[in-house]
Amino acid sequence: MSTRRPFIGGNWKMNTTRGQALELAADVGRAVRNSGAQVAIYPPFVWLETIRSSVGATGPLLGAQDCSPNCNGAFTGDVSLEMLKECGVSTVLIGHSERRHGLKEPEERIAAKLEAVLGAGLTAVLCVGETLDEREAGKTDEVNNAQLRSALAGTNIVRHDLLVIAYEPVWAIGTGKTASASDAQAAHERIRAVLDDLLGANPAAAIRIIYGGSMKPANAQDLMAQPDIDGGLIGGASLKAEDFLAIVNATKAN
Ligand code: PEP
Repeated sequence: MSTRRPFIGGNWKMNTTRGQALELAADVGRAVRNSGAQVAIYPPFVWLETIRSSVGATGPLLGAQDCSPNCNGAFTGDVSLEMLKECGVSTVLIGHSERRHGLKEPEERIAAKLEAVLGAGLTAVLCVGETLDEREAGKTDEVNNAQLRSALAGTNIVRHDLLVIAYEPVWAIGTGKTASASDAQAAHERIRAVLDDLLGANPAAAIRIIYGGSMKPANAQDLMAQPDIDGGLIGGASLKAEDFLAIVNATKAN
């Protein structure tokens, strides 16, 4: 791990009852207070307001799993950044594979969301990554490159500290399969080279690139010991406070 401040995000996806969300947020909130890492949790929209007070000012950042690129209007089912900010949200996931691939979210919409999140002054976690077929065809870097260019090339980024890239190989998400530390490092290094090309050397060196895909306490330290892996986006393991905190603590070991 470099001098970049580690970023650990817990993506709860469409899980937790109200009671479970409150308990999990309180457990995580208590434990991350003294962590050197920047920690964020991404609960379902409907629990944001509920758990806001248990997270508190010193707890993890409160995050949203998605947002609308639009400010307001006739967009049934969407949630705007203005609304999210009122609920205390300061970070948003963009282009998660369950939306990009699962819901066929188009590249242009992902780019528009990124622009909106950064423009609103929130931290954007832009997810990129290849499917199994693409990996087997040797296209990992090509896919990451294309997804990054499509989202970043036309985006006016004033504050690079608000941009986090999550490399999430689709075949590793929720499957129990994890990229080896060396494969993940190789992908991260190439992603940083694309950032260098698009944004310049200083931003590329400063932007956090985190790994996601079945990260758990047993593999977190190894992955985060790699020079270009600056943290993790955690799905399944973020639903157990003990596991999530073990991953947060693994950032200290490196
Ligand atoms: C994710 O949802 O971004 C993720 C990485 O999930 P999991 O940790 O369960 O693979």
